[in-house]
Amino acid sequence: MKRLEERIQKEGLVKKGNVLKVDAFLNHQMDIELFNEMGKEFRRLFPDEGITKILTIEASGIGIACIAAQYFHVPVVFAKKSQSLNLDAEQYRAKIESYTHKKTYDVIVSKKYLKPEDNILILDDFLAAGRAAEGLIDIVRSAGATVAGVGVAVEKYFQEGGKRLREKGVRVEALAAVQSMDEATGKIVFLRQEE
Ligand code: 5GP
Repeated sequence: MKRLEERIQKEGLVKKGNVLKVDAFLNHQMDIELFNEMGKEFRRLFPDEGITKILTIEASGIGIACIAAQYFHVPVVFAKKSQSLNLDAEQYRAKIESYTHKKTYDVIVSKKYLKPEDNILILDDFLAAGRAAEGLIDIVRSAGATVAGVGVAVEKYFQEGGKRLREKGVRVEALAAVQSMDEATGKIVFLRQEE
């Protein structure tokens, strides 16, 4: 998606450890007009899959998922990263190793909100090593539901997550795919998809 790529070129910062910082418009401050275009694009990519729910993970996925959901007319469920008294006792859980925080944590979804008849679109901000997406896929499958696909704003294509998911037969769509980035020069190169 051209507009997202241009924004990343203009305002993205390449940080230590292959981390792309985009908190001027995606991860901290959020450009809702851009999110709106992203939501439309996700809908264009998944037009007739019969998606019943969008599943994401707190915190950065929520805004993207909520705006996209307005084009799918379905609810958003977000996986929680910490146990809370408000959560129902009946839960699906998966362990995820965080790429940016370098720690492992549980993600939790109440069993009430995922049913075997659901066809789930998983949305998130980034796809890197693929652990977050795999954890969410495990949760969907534990519920007996179907994964329609995984959509991310940014895929770091040079990391193994996307490849591993695609090899497992999961449909993965990225609105911007970074082929390479260089911390020293700040240069970011996008994958050129075939037209
Ligand atoms: P994965 O589980 O695919 O390794 O990483 C995905 C999660 O890590 C995303 O939910 C995102 O929050 C975070 N993440 C991974 N790489 C980056 C990055 O380069 N920049 C930012 N801002 N977040 C990232």
